[in-house]
Amino acid sequence: MGLYDLDRDGLTNALSDYPKYRVNQLIHGIYANFLSPQEISELPSALRQELASREDFQPSLREDTRRVSDRGLTTKYLFSLSDGRQIESVLMYGPKSTTVCISSQAGCAMACKFCATGDLGFSRHLGVGEIVEQVITAAREAKSNGSRLDHVVYMGMGEPLANCGPVIESLHRIIEVMGLSARKVTLSTVGIVPGIKRLAKEELAINLAVSLHAANDDLRSALVPINKTYPIAILMEACAHYLSVKNRRISFEWALMSGVNDSEQDAKELAKLAKTLYPAAHVNLIPLNPTTGAMGKGLLAPSKEKINLFSSMLSELGVNATVRRTRGQEIAAACGQLAGSTPEDSLHSKNL
Ligand code: SAH
Repeated sequence: MGLYDLDRDGLTNALSDYPKYRVNQLIHGIYANFLSPQEISELPSALRQELASREDFQPSLREDTRRVSDRGLTTKYLFSLSDGRQIESVLMYGPKSTTVCISSQAGCAMACKFCATGDLGFSRHLGVGEIVEQVITAAREAKSNGSRLDHVVYMGMGEPLANCGPVIESLHRIIEVMGLSARKVTLSTVGIVPGIKRLAKEELAINLAVSLHAANDDLRSALVPINKTYPIAILMEACAHYLSVKNRRISFEWALMSGVNDSEQDAKELAKLAKTLYPAAHVNLIPLNPTTGAMGKGLLAPSKEKINLFSSMLSELGVNATVRRTRGQEIAAACGQLAGSTPEDSLHSKNL
């Protein structure tokens, strides 16, 4: 258990020998200024020293490496957890906003056919502190670069809704304690229907992104095996329910693969499905990022022309689509490339 595993009550209990305002100072220092307890100058030095040596006040992540690309605009962090397992987060500076993409599990059990994390297999769930600390670390880094972290996407390693308890707690923490706007937080799911239903019950108005990738069950089950458990019709029902109770945007992610899901027929099926929701789902097109597994199966991104054609077919069919700009591909930091220190890191230079 580390520092960011403790919620307000946990911190209050842990500091039961001190007046309550010390807890408030500690929370402010940690969650508003992204300081370690030792760095919070309002706290008396004896307390700072005590916290520096207490086991329950230690961070859970150790930065192993950081790799920078896009001329300094994208940084991928590789962290070791206390048991030696590794996870990654990606910090991205944009013209108008700063975003961190965080992991919810070490590895992933979903085995999507084109995803490097899926190829790793499942290692373990992250605890709430390990999830929250990725956001704090990114916020501290952004601040030191004169920027302000304002967007969080749960799109790193792992399936967030397969680790619902800690993920939901982390959402409450970053929104209610850290003060990030729920509208700027997006959780991406492979489509775990009970998880979507559970999220719908929470007082959290976050954006939901659903990794669709195929709009018929045969193709989707081949690409995204969990579709056999939660087929498209059931998934759409859960999305419609989420929309009706949250009134937040739902988007579909579609990793475009040449000759697999980039035809006119695919665009028609996708548009039809997007329009079963009201308002229609927004489609995020992600030209497939190369991974060892995907290349082994002959899966490749379509040409630029094909990608633009697919996107314009969707808009002609009345569905808004955005082509996601690939960030950090050469440092294996793009969607679906997060796999810790694996061969994905050298894939770009070797094969492209
Ligand atoms: N488990 C969550 C979050 C994972 S990654 C989910 O499935 O949504 C975020 C997005 O990247 C998902 O839509 C995922 O399907 C997609 N993705 C995975 N591998 C990819 C690749 N090689 N190229 C492009 N997108 C990929």
